Amino acid sequence: IVILGIESSCDDTSAAIIQNGVIKSNEVAGQAVHKAYGGVVPELASRAHQQNIIPVVDQAIKKAGISRDQISAVAFTRGPGLLGSLLVGTSFAKGFALASGIPLIEINHLQGHVLAHFIKEDENDDSAPNFPFLCLLVSGGNSQIIIVRDYLDMEVIGQTIDDAAGEAFDKCAKVMGLPYPGGPLIDKLAKEGDPKAFKFAEPKIKGLDYSFSGLKTSFLYFIRDNIKNNPDFIEENKSDICASIQHTIIKVLLAKLKRAAKETGIKEITIAGGVSANSGLRETLQKEAEKHNWKLHIPKFAYTTDNAAMIAITGYYKYLKGEFVGQDVAPFSRMVINEK
Ligand code: ATP
Ligand code: FE
Repeated sequence: IVILGIESSCDDTSAAIIQNGVIKSNEVAGQAVHKAYGGVVPELASRAHQQNIIPVVDQAIKKAGISRDQISAVAFTRGPGLLGSLLVGTSFAKGFALASGIPLIEINHLQGHVLAHFIKEDENDDSAPNFPFLCLLVSGGNSQIIIVRDYLDMEVIGQTIDDAAGEAFDKCAKVMGLPYPGGPLIDKLAKEGDPKAFKFAEPKIKGLDYSFSGLKTSFLYFIRDNIKNNPDFIEENKSDICASIQHTIIKVLLAKLKRAAKETGIKEITIAGGVSANSGLRETLQKEAEKHNWKLHIPKFAYTTDNAAMIAITGYYKYLKGEFVGQDVAPFSRMVINEK
């Protein structure tokens, strides 16, 4: 079974080929045009998708070394995401399925992030997690703890009541004058800094939920107050500031994850989404895993931020269940994880 995956929910145009669960290609075209604006400009994103989609799909098919008529089905991201961006991938997938006479499969982008753990590098790859497992999904739009009982059976047991962890990284980076997306830059700068140099107020939220908007505001005041006394404060303390804010975000994320593991008794732990690329988070998790006897699964970097391989693998499992959609399908900008 050969699945062509299409992802266009935000600012990355991506196409991938998965054959019987094994990755054959995963092409991603980023969009540099948003850098100057400090965030993704929806109108520019859809135009760039429109330019990129055909070349990216061609490249994915070419790299996979297959011919077009070997493709069994097309899986595309239906949502959540920017509507104009989703429309490009959706329309392309519909056209491709219609022209090739093959089934069309709609994918929930968030399920895709979680199922990225099932992408096999080769036939002998047995690194996939066992059900049930917990997934900490931390991305640009979501921070949630999910119980995954089966490929397409997921339950959110905790989530952010305001900003996502990725947003916290990006907004703090913006306050420091770093370009978008700031998450990877904070990660890089943090490596040379002292994580205990500065302290930030941690949110006090009940249960397994998260909150990051208070942290963002306290960071803004912290920078503003220090700049008043010393205009060069950011420049002089850049790596310490980055290490400290990253340390705080990780601490907040870990506290609830540990609690979820304790409450559910599940020791199979995974992370997914763009923020799961963070090296500090990965290191801290590894230490915690040893301490608590967790079986930890950390995704390959290529499958953390938006990519079509995760859409194709989800499509593979939906294909096996015969979950197809008709040509009247339309994208949704808002979708939750247990929504089809
Ligand atoms: P969603 O999947 O919730 O719809 P999204 O698709 O925009 O949101 P992703 O592509 O999964 O989000 O992740 C992007 C986010 O990940 C950005 O906020 C980015 O700053 C963050 N990110 C990427 N790499 C790192 C890193 N190394 N450290 C911290 N954050 C990172
Ligand atoms: Fe995403």
